[in-house]
Amino acid sequence: MADIITRLKNRGEVFWENPGYGRMPAGRRELTMEDILDAEARLRRFAPLLQALFPETEASGGIIESPLREIEAMRRALNGADGVQIDGRLFMKMDSDLAVAGSVKARGGIYEVLKHTEDLALAAGLLTGCGDDYAKLAAPEAAEFFAGHKVQVGSTGNLGMSIGIMSAALGYEAIVHMSSDAKQWKKDLLRKKGVTVREYEGDYGEAVRQGRALSDADPRSYFVDDENSRDLFLGYAVAALRLKKQLEEQHVAVNAEHPAAVYIPCGVGGAPGGICFGLKEVWGDAVRVYFGEPVECPSMLLGLATGKYNGICVQDAGLSGKTAADGLACGRTSGFAGKFIEPVLSGVYTVSDDRLLPYLRQLYQTEGLFIEPSSCAAIHGPVLAKQNIQASEKETGSAETAAVQTTILWATGGSLVPEAVRREFLGTEA
Ligand SMILES: *Cc1c(COP(=O)(O)O)cnc(C)c1O
Repeated sequence: MADIITRLKNRGEVFWENPGYGRMPAGRRELTMEDILDAEARLRRFAPLLQALFPETEASGGIIESPLREIEAMRRALNGADGVQIDGRLFMKMDSDLAVAGSVKARGGIYEVLKHTEDLALAAGLLTGCGDDYAKLAAPEAAEFFAGHKVQVGSTGNLGMSIGIMSAALGYEAIVHMSSDAKQWKKDLLRKKGVTVREYEGDYGEAVRQGRALSDADPRSYFVDDENSRDLFLGYAVAALRLKKQLEEQHVAVNAEHPAAVYIPCGVGGAPGGICFGLKEVWGDAVRVYFGEPVECPSMLLGLATGKYNGICVQDAGLSGKTAADGLACGRTSGFAGKFIEPVLSGVYTVSDDRLLPYLRQLYQTEGLFIEPSSCAAIHGPVLAKQNIQASEKETGSAETAAVQTTILWATGGSLVPEAVRREFLGTEA
């Protein structure tokens, strides 16, 4: 362990296999598949309302879901470099294109706002029960009621966009507390949607602290707690049920003989944690889940490897926490997510910022897909995994037992990035 911490402190890229994998805590787990199914049912109840509020969700009947794309040209390009060989088929889960919020936060963030809305509406008699027609919450009388309530959140950017856009569309007074890492275009977009944006000099943790304090002092305010929220976590977990259907449609088997590996960029840990929880509930050991973090901000890895979870931050290890992957700039991990997924998470790796833009451009050139820099942390996962396997095979002289047949890179954001910023990332400004 001392070795891994030293390598993190030196900003080296690491591929850490979780020694805690498979060590299940005794007793019933706090959340189960039943909770995921409950969340999925709630999203279905709200589908007619989403369809009414966001015309872009019309085609999918008010269900916000992203495509699963096979990226064979990108696989060939990756295999050409670094002497690695990514086996089997390579897919990208395009949460970068999720409707309404343009990032993975459209899962957890929107789900939590809807859950809170259901609680309020049932208590106030706006809904008579879960069988009621939820589309009526789009009516002006409902908006008037929600206008008397606030929703607040602290964010590096994308969570704020998801919570802010959804809350404002329902009529809530929405306040997003942003860290200094947050991109200007995200603040501009939110203000255009009628969301109040408060900015803080400090980091993400500071924005969360201030937002929470303001919200807690106000009985009509609801605070979305990125570090502890079970609702956010469950909204993310629903992704697994949707992915299962997509893999079946594409005739991709995932089982003990056909293992899959999934690579997800990690910030505070809620989004990748929730998705990981869902995936493991659906596939168990047949799916291996890895989180990717920037070398300057490996908060989940630091929390797990030291066993301190949210009791340690990257600055404690002498790292800056600053990264071009703005969505991953959370210096302290979620204690809840870290502890909860520890027994089911296969590992965590770190990626140097220098790789993000080259990957972003390579994906655009080979597949015509645009994703934001934070999302690109997923791409380096299978490369490091393969190098890791090759190194250990050389050491032990024996081959891996069951090679991964399906690799999924989780693209976590991108579609709302404005054209001018996109061109900057792609290096096509002229
Ligand atoms: C939020 C975010 C993540 C990671 O989610 P956490 O819940 O912070 O771990 C990854 N990529 C993008 C683009 C994000 O916005």
